[in-house]
Amino acid sequence: MSVTGAILDDGEVHVVDDIAIDEPRSGEALVDLTTAGVCGSDLALLEGKFPFPTPAVLGHEATGVVRALGPDTVGPEPGTRVTLWMRPPCRRCRSCTRGEAGLCEASGFMSAKGTLLDGWTSFTRGGEPLYRGFGIGAFATQVVMPVNGLVEVPDEVSTDVAALVGCGVATGAGAILNVARPLPGDTVLVFGAGGVGLAAVMAAAAVGAGHVIVVDPAEHRRDEALELGATHAIPGGDRREVRAQLTEATGAGTVDVAVDAVGRPELIETGYSAIRQGGAVVAVGLQPPDAEVTLKAPVLPLSHKRILGCFMGGIDPQRDLPKLFAMHLAGRLPIDRLVSAHRPIAEAAEALDDLANARGLRTLIDLTR
Ligand SMILES: [Zn+2]
Ligand SMILES: [Zn+2]
Repeated sequence: MSVTGAILDDGEVHVVDDIAIDEPRSGEALVDLTTAGVCGSDLALLEGKFPFPTPAVLGHEATGVVRALGPDTVGPEPGTRVTLWMRPPCRRCRSCTRGEAGLCEASGFMSAKGTLLDGWTSFTRGGEPLYRGFGIGAFATQVVMPVNGLVEVPDEVSTDVAALVGCGVATGAGAILNVARPLPGDTVLVFGAGGVGLAAVMAAAAVGAGHVIVVDPAEHRRDEALELGATHAIPGGDRREVRAQLTEATGAGTVDVAVDAVGRPELIETGYSAIRQGGAVVAVGLQPPDAEVTLKAPVLPLSHKRILGCFMGGIDPQRDLPKLFAMHLAGRLPIDRLVSAHRPIAEAAEALDDLANARGLRTLIDLTR
């Protein structure tokens, strides 16, 4: 059977309908994809900001329905709705056995190398292998996935929400719930009101943060953040300007937690200056390869300030995605409100262009038409 998908080749997006896909092997499942979200990392691949092998099927934030399991494989049965996760925990390495499946050593390379666990990709075109965007390749009508990279979706959860939970939402919400862990009443500062930042805003509001302040230069994004649970929205600027805007907004120039959902070193520095003694700055956004952070070292021991790295929200998919679905169904994570457009797979390039030009919040690609 041939698969329709959007591939990145020679720096351009091509939608093709002649991708060959392998049968699932032991430990794998074949999934009919229904919906994929367009994430900033897809755009980074297209813009060449990230070294990645090509030609590659783009996309890594998706949901679908299991069609078949490989031989001798225990996993979600055919017909089960699932969310895909790019870092399937092996449950055996040091990270997994320490309860840090988000750092699984066995599957970590999948997203960087664009392959399955053993280096194969399951996709070919004209006899040549096609790589998998961040280990998945979800802008396609079908994909083969390790079963540990699949999480069952409750019936009540919409397909749009099931897709968005597969990367950006989990990254932003996980940064708050797993890493920053603000207490009720705390003040949380979030740099960036894109998909990841807004998920952090929603999660901070959900855990009862007192003030949730979002920093974004785009007025329409600040307005969205205020709708989704931010108590204040400021345009930002240099360190002094942010501190002044904070003081004007909340009466205090410091915060308990600062989250960089953008991925710029100066935002980590600004966050470090804005957190109180004992507070934490959480670095979530992927940084440019040569980025470096400069901090006043004498402040660190005296202030107990903490700098925390956070990759994909520290998410263990089987442990955490059901919690995010439950929070959504309880009305505490209005993930569906991030969706601004749906496009067919034929318009994959336009969907990436929506993101490049900050049109709307999240464009979803419909893989059933
Ligand atoms: Zn992503
Ligand atoms: Zn592992």
